[in-house]
Amino acid sequence: MHLEKIEMTGFKSFADKTVIEFDQGVTAVVGPNGSGKSNLSEAVRWVLGEQSAKNLRGKKMDDIVFAGSESRKPVNIAEVTLLFNNEDQTLPIDFSQVSITRRMNRNGESNCFINKKPCRLKDITDLLMDSGIGKDSFSMISQGKVEQIFQNKPEERRSIFEDAAGIAKYKSRKISAERKLERTEEHLNRVEDILHEITSQLTPLEVQRNTALQYQNKKKELSDIEIALIAVEIETVSEQWQLSKKELIQYQERTKKLETDQSEAQNYLSILKHKEAKINDDIDLLQEEHVQVIQKLEQLEGQKNILEQKADFSTKSKKQQKEIIQDKVKLIEEQELNATTLSSKSKEFTLKK
Ligand code: ATP
Repeated sequence: MHLEKIEMTGFKSFADKTVIEFDQGVTAVVGPNGSGKSNLSEAVRWVLGEQSAKNLRGKKMDDIVFAGSESRKPVNIAEVTLLFNNEDQTLPIDFSQVSITRRMNRNGESNCFINKKPCRLKDITDLLMDSGIGKDSFSMISQGKVEQIFQNKPEERRSIFEDAAGIAKYKSRKISAERKLERTEEHLNRVEDILHEITSQLTPLEVQRNTALQYQNKKKELSDIEIALIAVEIETVSEQWQLSKKELIQYQERTKKLETDQSEAQNYLSILKHKEAKINDDIDLLQEEHVQVIQKLEQLEGQKNILEQKADFSTKSKKQQKEIIQDKVKLIEEQELNATTLSSKSKEFTLKK
C-alpha cells in the first residue's frame, strides 16, 4: 500500500487548498523552522483518527482550523484527504484506490468519509487497524520521537518493535479476546448460578407440571364427554323435532279438513235455516188455511143443520128436497176434500220439520 497524495484545506497553516503528491521512493519535505512541516504530519495523524488536541499541539480540537494570519482572514472548515493506492488490498476494502477524509468546522462538528461516502471515525480506525498505519503505529514517528525511543526503558521500547514487527495488532486482538473471555466467564458464572437456582425449583415444578398435565387430561376427558352428551342430545332433539314436524303436518291437515267440514256444515246450516224459514212461512200459511177450513166446516155444519131441520119440518117439494140433497152431498164432498187437504198439509209439515 502506498500513500499517493495529501489534500489539505484550512488545516492549521494550510489555509488554501494544498496538494502534496508522493511518488515511489523517498519524499522529503524541506523548509525553515515554522514553515509547517510538522503541521503536515499532524494532518496525516488527524485523518488517521487522532482524537487528542494535545497530540496535535492544540488546546482544543478546533485549534486545527486555520485561525488567520496577518494577511488572511480565518476560515471555518478544515478538511484533509489522504489518497492510498490499495492495489495490494492491504486495506480490507474492494477498491484499488481509497480516499479517507476528515472534516471539522469551528463549532467542533466533525465528519468522516471513506471514498467520499459518509462514515464514522470508528469505521476509519477499523479499516486501518490491520494495516500498520494507525495514528500510533510505527509508520508515524513525529519530531522528537526518535530521541524518546532511544531514551525509553527496554520494556517501553518493546512496544515500538512489536508494532514494527506487525504483532501489535495480534496483541490488541489478544487483549480484546482476553476481555471477551473474562466476560464469557462472568456470563458462565451467572449461568451456573441461575442453573443452581433453577435446579432447586425443578422438583416443585415437576409436581406442578404433573398436576397441570393431569388437569389437562381430565379437562380433555370432560370436554370429550360433554361433546358426546351434546351429540346424543342433538340426535334426540332432532328425532323429536322430526316427530313433532310430522304431527304438526297431520294436525294441519286435520285442521284443514275440519275447516272444510265446518264450512260445509255452515253452508248446510244456512240452507237448513233458509228451509226452516220457508217451512215456518208454510206452517203459518197452513195454519191460516186450517183456521179458514175449520171456520168453513163450522159454517157448513150450521147450514147442514138448518137444511136437516128444513127437511124434517117443512113441506117442501121433491125438487126442493132433491136440491137440498144435492147441496148436502156437495157440502159433504167439499168437507171431505177439505179434510183430505188438511191431513196432507199436516203430513208435509211433519216431514219437513
Ligand atoms: P519547527 O521546525 O520549528 O518544528 P515546522 O516547520 O514544523 O517548525 P510547524 O510547527 O509545523 O512548523 O508550524 C508552525 C506554524 O504553523 C506556525 O507558524 C503557526 O503560526 C502555524 N500555525 C499553527 N496552527 C495554526 C492555526 N490554527 N492557524 C494558523 N496558523 C497556525
